[in-house]
Amino acid sequence: MRTGILAMQGAFREHAEALRKCGCEAVEIRKPTELQFIDALIIPGGESTVIGKLLRDYRLMEIIIAKANSGMPIFGTCAGAILLAGKIEAERRWLGLMDIEVRRNAYGRQIDSFEVEVDIPVLGKEPFPAVFIRAPRIERVGPGVNVLARHKGGIVLVRQGNLLAATFHPELTGDLRLHRYFLEMFCGERKKVVSV
Ligand code: GLN
Repeated sequence: MRTGILAMQGAFREHAEALRKCGCEAVEIRKPTELQFIDALIIPGGESTVIGKLLRDYRLMEIIIAKANSGMPIFGTCAGAILLAGKIEAERRWLGLMDIEVRRNAYGRQIDSFEVEVDIPVLGKEPFPAVFIRAPRIERVGPGVNVLARHKGGIVLVRQGNLLAATFHPELTGDLRLHRYFLEMFCGERKKVVSV
């Protein structure tokens, strides 16, 4: 089982490190051909407009959409969640794979980065340390989307079948539970998802 990490820009090295600590093979993806040899994909945080343009220019966009539609698990974190969103407030969408609407940089300039403990029931009782960096907010989800976590009422983690999106960076704190949860989406039994 190999997981690809989109390595155009942003926090891809930290995700590779987290996956390797979980005992999973992690490969960096920059070219369309490299997408053929992976079982799952992580789209990291960074700058969604930069990553989106590179995806388009390097012709990765159509292949990722096709692979997602045929069931490949994808985990988008922060900018990655923006790239997966079906709707981005006041902007054009990129991959548009998830029935969610996001607002970029939703937490404003003054508190643009912060770390908080977030309750994620599918990961157990222990709260998860979530790092938000100029994070988006998920403003709306469609009926097929499960909300897995909220922070102060705002939606921060969602799953829609084989697609997972977090508005925070799970790769920066050393807590591997969310990466393990993602890996179980294709390595182990598909877990029953509890909405909160
Ligand atoms: N603000 C970035 C964007 O809009 C996302 C930030 C991040 O990924 N940490 O794309």
